[in-house]
Amino acid sequence: MGGLTSLTSVIGVLQTVAMLTQEQTTELRTRLQAEVTRLADHAHTALDFTMDRDRDRIGRDSMDEATEEETYSTQLRLHDRETFLLEKIREAMRRLEAGTLDECEECSEPIGFKRLLARPVTTLCFDCKTAREQVESEHAPTET
Ligand SMILES: [Zn+2]
Repeated sequence: MGGLTSLTSVIGVLQTVAMLTQEQTTELRTRLQAEVTRLADHAHTALDFTMDRDRDRIGRDSMDEATEEETYSTQLRLHDRETFLLEKIREAMRRLEAGTLDECEECSEPIGFKRLLARPVTTLCFDCKTAREQVESEHAPTET
């Protein structure tokens, strides 16, 4: 009988770890897909900007160069950020399909559906995220 008891407790453990319902998974999938669409739109805007800039360049003197370079690098940085975000979203989608989206990568506790819905790319529960942000704000260079 000992075998059966331990099997039941294993199932019990699995149930506390297993987390998102079918509806929640569907909702999060929709949410993630919307994010991908939104970012794809932004990427187009960034691309248009780059092309406009190249056209504008012709016949311009170097007066605006400094400002222009600055704007351009800001735009590029923004684009990098979008690419980075897009990769995070793809990762989140993989985790969603694997059923591990709701698992905190730090402490393995459930992240919680509400938190995921607000921020579907998160890999940390609220406590771990708060702790990490504190570390980051202490070490991150201040950006203006
Ligand atoms: Zn955690």
